[in-house]
Amino acid sequence: MAFVITSPCIGEKAADCVEVCPVDCIVEGEDQYFIDPDVCISCGACELACPVSAIYEEDDVPEEERHFIDKAIEFFKNR
Ligand code: SF4
Ligand code: SF4
Repeated sequence: MAFVITSPCIGEKAADCVEVCPVDCIVEGEDQYFIDPDVCISCGACELACPVSAIYEEDDVPEEERHFIDKAIEFFKNR
């Protein structure tokens, strides 16, 4: 189980989440930041730090945002 970054992050470049992640698994992509699901330890620190509430635990990602789960997996597969 990992945390996932969703649509409110797009175009947002403040990256408060990156600063607080203890395992450094949040990476900048072309249009948004991504959490590496294989490295995330689900501590929740990033969720609290995000000013636009873009971060959810995977199970709690809203229905219309669920494609962001696959988008993150694809992002790290192609790195
Ligand atoms: S803090 Fe939120 S909006 Fe900012 S980069 Fe992280 S996920 Fe995106
Ligand atoms: S839940 Fe914790 S480990 Fe996972 S991305 Fe957020 S800050 Fe990093």
